[in-house]
Amino acid sequence: MTTAPKMFFIPFAMVVLIALSACNREGSQREPLAKIVAGAVIETRNEPSSVELQRETRVVVLGTGTPIPDARRAGPSIAVVHKGEAYLFDIGAGSIRNAVAARYKYDIPSLYPLQICCVFITHMHSDHTMDFSELAFDLWWRRVEPLRVWGPTGLKKMAAGMYAMMVPDIEARSSGSQPLPNPKSYEVDVTEITEGVVFEKEDLVIEAFSVNHGEVEPAFGYRITTAEKTIVISGDTAYSEKLLDMSRGADLLFHEVISDSGLANTSEYFQAYHKKSHTTASDVGRLASEAKPDKLVLYHALFYGVAEDLIVEEVRTGYDGDVVLADDLDLF
Ligand SMILES: [Zn+2]
Ligand SMILES: [Zn+2]
Repeated sequence: MTTAPKMFFIPFAMVVLIALSACNREGSQREPLAKIVAGAVIETRNEPSSVELQRETRVVVLGTGTPIPDARRAGPSIAVVHKGEAYLFDIGAGSIRNAVAARYKYDIPSLYPLQICCVFITHMHSDHTMDFSELAFDLWWRRVEPLRVWGPTGLKKMAAGMYAMMVPDIEARSSGSQPLPNPKSYEVDVTEITEGVVFEKEDLVIEAFSVNHGEVEPAFGYRITTAEKTIVISGDTAYSEKLLDMSRGADLLFHEVISDSGLANTSEYFQAYHKKSHTTASDVGRLASEAKPDKLVLYHALFYGVAEDLIVEEVRTGYDGDVVLADDLDLF
């Protein structure tokens, strides 16, 4: 007697919920992510809208992680969005899926993967490059302008290896009935760089500078200047005087970090390796107290078992300015 009505009610409720969610998806693709589940949408556009061109420079953190796979943190990636284009600094694992999320959360069309024009790589460690194939091959057959990527020596080798890896996909799509306006549109326009200004467009200037990432050479940080903001991104580095000089007076300094007390939890071999390659939280604080950025943003944080808040406290031992530990999808 009591089970029959319930069995009827549950499927009916599910049908109503499915119908409601379908209505929401269709009607609100441009609403904030919290209000929708962004469905699979193919977005094409030929140029930025006038609204995009007038927006101020924004920075979206697409990934705050490290080589350690982390369900809450994609691999390192920071997007500077300026005059309707997105300039990505590193593309760690998961960062391009976060770019899709950010596109809808903040209504930034240039963060849709097909619309991302430009990527700047800090160094060739895999945690900074894992989404290269994701970005280059997402809907590659619909890409109109080639993806452009700048970075250290080794980038061309990586691109060649990626094309080789994707040969079965390229051949399958090129030899059948799939429409393919440009059979070579998976190819990436790669520039291997040295220190100095590597990109200029109107008021936007992107300058690469060498940092000290132990045995990995070259390794670059980037200084991005627009009419409104100066942004400095450390990439992976031990304490760097060059980085200190480049970040003096910046509006935003994004700096990698390793916890002092977390480092003490690692083996003597890893302690030696990390001291040559990364910056301890107390040293990040020391650097920021001299550079005096408006805001210090910590990312690529190696915690090694300590609470996340502790790393901010460790930075504050030598720095009384504004500091935050970034989360994925933070906007500045
Ligand atoms: Zn790294
Ligand atoms: Zn590295």
